[in-house]
Amino acid sequence: MDHKNVVTRYAPSPTGFQHIGGIRTALFAYLWAKKNNGTFILRIEDTDKNREVEGAIQHTIDALGWLGIDYDFGPDKPSDEIGPFLQSDRLETYKQYAQKLIDKGLAYPDPYTADELTAFREAAQAEHRPFLYRDHRPTEFAEWDGTKPLRFKTPEIKRYTWQDAVRGELTAGEEALDDFIIIKADGYPTYNFAHIVDDLEMGVTHVMRGEEFISSTPKFLSLYDALDIPYPVFVTLPPIMGPDGKKKLSKRDGAKDLLEYNDDGYLPTAMWNFLALIGWNPGGEQELFPGDELMDAFSLEKIQKSGGAFNEEKLRWMNKEYIAQLSEAEQEAYVFDALPDLDKATLAKLVPTILERVHNKVEIKANAEAGEYAWAFADVDYDPTILKWKNDEQASDAAPRLQKAAELLSEANFDSPESIKGALWNYAEEVGRGELLWPLRVSLSGRERSPDPFTCAYVIGKKATLVRIEQAIEKLS
Ligand code: GLU
Repeated sequence: MDHKNVVTRYAPSPTGFQHIGGIRTALFAYLWAKKNNGTFILRIEDTDKNREVEGAIQHTIDALGWLGIDYDFGPDKPSDEIGPFLQSDRLETYKQYAQKLIDKGLAYPDPYTADELTAFREAAQAEHRPFLYRDHRPTEFAEWDGTKPLRFKTPEIKRYTWQDAVRGELTAGEEALDDFIIIKADGYPTYNFAHIVDDLEMGVTHVMRGEEFISSTPKFLSLYDALDIPYPVFVTLPPIMGPDGKKKLSKRDGAKDLLEYNDDGYLPTAMWNFLALIGWNPGGEQELFPGDELMDAFSLEKIQKSGGAFNEEKLRWMNKEYIAQLSEAEQEAYVFDALPDLDKATLAKLVPTILERVHNKVEIKANAEAGEYAWAFADVDYDPTILKWKNDEQASDAAPRLQKAAELLSEANFDSPESIKGALWNYAEEVGRGELLWPLRVSLSGRERSPDPFTCAYVIGKKATLVRIEQAIEKLS
């Protein structure tokens, strides 16, 4: 099926950082639009100036850019026809639609003061009934001069039933319906009103968002009806749960700034793949969807109704998989970035060894801090007893083997760990692998646990290798 005119949007409020939840919505909306050769819009819903956080818009642009979610239109990508994409730049448009409602007798200025409203609320509370504004709806509507909130006169209090592309038939009712504010006294529209006007003006065909909007949908539907607007396709995305899939995602993970994952060394490709699988289940065993594979596989039918698990272990695993797919030069740059203070020539030789055991830059840094790579960059010192191989009587039994290894290595080609291995292997087979490789490895790395001796020798180079073997033999005498 090819919906040529699919239009989706991501519509965050600039009230903080972009986190996993929001960006997952953006990704799904993007995938659906792009899969159908449609249009994906970034719209900033900045109608609550009190909650706005400075820098949040740029942060959103940066986060989407990092992930490669390339919107067709947005605050920094204008359009002559359907922009602007900052709601605060669209106040005139909302006024026009508000006027349409006023003309139909479906909107009126709120005549009450804050104190009067409080009194109504308290009276309702005292009588144990819900406060409904519509119980106090004025019989005659004054002219709206923009200084009072404008309310929608809900035409009909009834249950609404509608279709959701993910959840099927949904229904919610009277309790959600009241004469809600559409334009505030400060001239800004409310979300309830503005998003409907914008979705219409921008031609949005599919509205993707979280389940927290289901209960308000009767309000939206009553507005669509009042404005004679056809409903878009509602696509309710499942909530994001913690790793066990049962509890909601913890505050810490849920609120984490997406770009922190970048700092921590997560690749956008891995994050993209990981996010897509939160609440979207393609079926089958495949979990890695590199490049365009994800877009090809994506469909609304496979979006889950129930919560999708956020499992950081899986993210780590995926990241390692995607790191493995990087080119050699990219892997080198990745490690250099994690350890900017270390000698680059040596570090370059250590890259495969480092990446074999880690999932991100945080782990690389932690290993470096724990001294795991120190042998590669500085002389080693250690207690000679650790040179003892388990089959040897005493540590010094290894001295003649080390002597022979030094002879072989002084003639060896140090171009790669393999060439070094080639120079030693026959001798290792002859005297016993552990008998040679254990003390050799310890003499080069100074550690009981380290990469294999061929890698160690390659990383530190021939000169240091011969010096360290010599030092080990001295320690043993
Ligand atoms: N501004 C709303 C939010 O950030 C958007 C909801 C919607 O997509 O309609 O939650």
